[in-house]
Amino acid sequence: MYPSSIQKLIELFSKFPTVGPRTAARFVFYLLGLKKEEAEELTSAISKLRNVKLCKLCFKSFEDEGELCEICQNPARDKSLLCIVEKETDLISIEKTKKYQGLFFIFGGTVPVLKKEDKKKLRADELLVRAKKPEVKEIIIAVNPTTEGEATILYLERLLKPLNKKITRLGRGLPIGAELEYADEETLGSALEGRK
Ligand SMILES: [Zn+2]
Repeated sequence: MYPSSIQKLIELFSKFPTVGPRTAARFVFYLLGLKKEEAEELTSAISKLRNVKLCKLCFKSFEDEGELCEICQNPARDKSLLCIVEKETDLISIEKTKKYQGLFFIFGGTVPVLKKEDKKKLRADELLVRAKKPEVKEIIIAVNPTTEGEATILYLERLLKPLNKKITRLGRGLPIGAELEYADEETLGSALEGRK
């Protein structure tokens, strides 16, 4: 059908989230139409992604030297607060509110309600190790109030209960079914401040 170099790239793009073979083919033909400089900019941006590492403590991506991200390295952050989020985009939303000075833990997703997917992506073991640390006094579960989010909140509460620490969740204000990453900064900020 297509020349093998085109076919190969279609296969690779088809693995992207929400991208099917038709969209993948459109991407490839878009790339074929790029000017030389544009194509070089893209390939160099992709190869630079290899410099990105995950923080050993919170699992946020970062590019600096060392093993910790800029948040975990910052001595001004309050180590007694640990905020659990599903994914990095939620962490960024909370950072944008400028209402939170504690540390984070990226859990890696939600607990599936219907699908029998494996929970391997989820960092339950890593979370327990982190939450057990004596400096952690309050654990804030900042998970989207969607159906899968609610299941995740219950799962996390059950997982963390034996640690006998203060566990809070976001207060009212976030609409049911809302996604943190789409909430406005003010709403999310007051949900954080109103945690209980
Ligand atoms: Zn970190």
